[in-house]
Amino acid sequence: GFDRILADYDPPRGDPLFVEELAAFLSRRFGCRIGPENIAVTNGGQTAYFCLINMLAGRASDGSLRKILFPLMPEYIGYADQSIEADTFISARPRIEFSGKHTFKYHIDFENLPIGDEVAAICVSRPTNPTGNVLTDDEVSRLSALAESQDIPLIIDNAYGTPFPGIIFTEARPVWRPNMILTLSLSKLGLPGTRTGIVVARPEIADALAAMNGVLSLASGNIGQALILPFLKNDEIVRISDEIIRPYYLIKSRRALEWLEESFGDAVDYKVHKSEGAMFLWLWFRNLPITTMELYERLKRRRVLIVPGRYFFFAGDVDGKHRDECLRLTYSQSDDTVREGIRILAEEVKRAYAEGT
Ligand code: PLP
Repeated sequence: GFDRILADYDPPRGDPLFVEELAAFLSRRFGCRIGPENIAVTNGGQTAYFCLINMLAGRASDGSLRKILFPLMPEYIGYADQSIEADTFISARPRIEFSGKHTFKYHIDFENLPIGDEVAAICVSRPTNPTGNVLTDDEVSRLSALAESQDIPLIIDNAYGTPFPGIIFTEARPVWRPNMILTLSLSKLGLPGTRTGIVVARPEIADALAAMNGVLSLASGNIGQALILPFLKNDEIVRISDEIIRPYYLIKSRRALEWLEESFGDAVDYKVHKSEGAMFLWLWFRNLPITTMELYERLKRRRVLIVPGRYFFFAGDVDGKHRDECLRLTYSQSDDTVREGIRILAEEVKRAYAEGT
């Protein structure tokens, strides 16, 4: 027990007991065979992405520059600076679907994806940080087919998804196929301090990650794996995700949307991305006279923190106007804090529209 958790190094792939149980658990949940040879444990999802991005993208042995395609920008800010080589990221602008008075949703614009021979992998977070978007099952199938036709992997960042932590409010089917690289994390289960990330991929890629992990870290931390092991064996982790974590964030999301309505009313034509998962609302203020970068400064003076949209558009052909009209709001704090933050946000946004600067 204690010795295994704290007094031993794990092998570079992860604790064999954990990897074995996780493979059995994922096979049960995904309805396909996933074996220990498909898994590598890393020190957090972030490290997994550093390894994946630099393993797949960059200068190839024939001298060509291989790239990662983010088929829908805005994407997770944490990928932005991970590539060791410059110019290895490309992206595409989304299609925008409006519904109701204040809601929109991004979709992948399949007709305009720059999927040339230099693309080494396609990468998406699902649910998406920062937008709370969940790509539809159809979008995932089409991306997977596209990746297969190019003989490249489709990377899906499942940090908020199913089977755990389950912060997903739509009926999204969990999928894994041999051409996919699926990453999971224990962070959003409430264990970010354990730094535990998980990669599910075909054996050559899982082996390469385990080898990189050996070089970079010798071994991954074993505390997170040990804490979660008993909850994998009996599928309790699914119950915790579905009955505790998901409802907690779903209520928070719905309340934050109500408070936006309460604070903005009809005074401002604000748009919110459809909240389908994760811990964020993505707001869009069309024709806002100031950038959300400037709005960020004004809000910071009032002790409210948001993230300006521009940070999530870190590659490719970006619509500068749209980028600077968007922002990310986190709703995971206490109700009082979120409600007060939204009230102050609305005051500052209304003031900016009224003054025109
Ligand atoms: N991927 C996404 C989409 C995230 O939002 C995060 C953290 O916020 C990570 C990966 C990294 O998570 P960790 O390194 O804590 O596993």
